[in-house]
Amino acid sequence: MPYTLDDCLFCKIVSGTIPADEVHRDDHVVAFRDITPKAPTHILLVPTTHYPNVAELAADDPHGLAALVVTARALAEQEGIDRSGYRLLTNTGAGAGQTVFHAHLHLLGGRSMS
Ligand code: 5GP
Ligand code: ZN
Repeated sequence: MPYTLDDCLFCKIVSGTIPADEVHRDDHVVAFRDITPKAPTHILLVPTTHYPNVAELAADDPHGLAALVVTARALAEQEGIDRSGYRLLTNTGAGAGQTVFHAHLHLLGGRSMS
């Protein structure tokens, strides 16, 4: 059983306590559509184990971070945005706009991102 936090929104989505529009789930990664999308495709990818941000994930489990990126590539293909291009974004710290303190990547695409 991966490490989880009781009061963490994304841990609750990982455990299924809170529903989400899931597009992928395996032992390491859960991906679901952002509740307030900023682009036609806006998917959040989270590790099943709780880390406060992607740097902590990378330091402790580099393969876990790689799994997020490789899954994002597969979902970009599935969404049909791999050729037009997509953005992988992560906020670290409240001052940078992080609002959920469980590591996640935003996969954004389907419109001009430049
Ligand atoms: P952050 O601001 O931490 O980088 O990203 C958190 C993201 O989580 C935001 O884009 C926000 O819209 C999304 N979000 C917040 N609450 C929920 C929720 O209950 N369900 C889903 N699917 N996304 C959420
Ligand atoms: Zn969490």
